[in-house]
Amino acid sequence: MNKPSDSLATRWQSLRDEVAEVALRCGRAPEEICIIGVTKYVDAETTRELVLAGAHDLGESRPQTLWDKAVALANLPCRWHLIGPLQRNKVRKTLPQVHVIHSIDSLKLANFIENVAAELGLLVQGLIEVNISGDASKQGVPPDQFEELLGQLEPLKNLRICGLMGMSGLGDGAKEVSGQFEQLRILRDKAIANGTAGSLTLKELSMGMSDDFPLAIAQGATMIRVGSRLFP
Ligand SMILES: *Cc1c(COP(=O)(O)O)cnc(C)c1O
Repeated sequence: MNKPSDSLATRWQSLRDEVAEVALRCGRAPEEICIIGVTKYVDAETTRELVLAGAHDLGESRPQTLWDKAVALANLPCRWHLIGPLQRNKVRKTLPQVHVIHSIDSLKLANFIENVAAELGLLVQGLIEVNISGDASKQGVPPDQFEELLGQLEPLKNLRICGLMGMSGLGDGAKEVSGQFEQLRILRDKAIANGTAGSLTLKELSMGMSDDFPLAIAQGATMIRVGSRLFP
């Protein structure tokens, strides 16, 4: 674990080591898991330090902050993940900067992104966010509506759905959290088995944060989103 005196580079390396260790323990290859450094707690300067330490996937929950940092760090080898809600009036400025949008949760938003992406000549990757914890405060489509939404998004051309995103419930115990992550994976597997996924492989499962990424890796996470562990 971290000591307060550790440098950011040391904390990043220790996170990478732990992810690799957990992956191997679960019989998975460490390279299957993309670590997204969530930089919403820090400014562009500290974000730059993280990239220089070796983090190439960065996450922000607010579109405006993502734009600002993408511009500030434009010369660095990093790609941006939007992990928070996207309002329609922010789509046009976000699309050229973003690698994956993790928060697609309605047909309306998806159609809007599809149209703007077509206009800009972009192919955008998105994840369907599912409310696996059932917390009323959480974003995401309810699990029982996931497959219907997926069926509606499958034909889109400029927005390509590449997987699912979920967040565990605040204060839930390990067993419950593990069950929530398992549910996300099962939703994916069922959609593929039922044919609802069509041509989509739904390879990505974005789940797990500082407190629960080992449980998420055990349940098949391909992207983990880690912030406070890097910026204590
Ligand atoms: C803030 C945030 C994270 C990172 O959480 P930590 O507990 O700080 O690691 C991950 N995902 C989303 C959607 C977030 O908003």
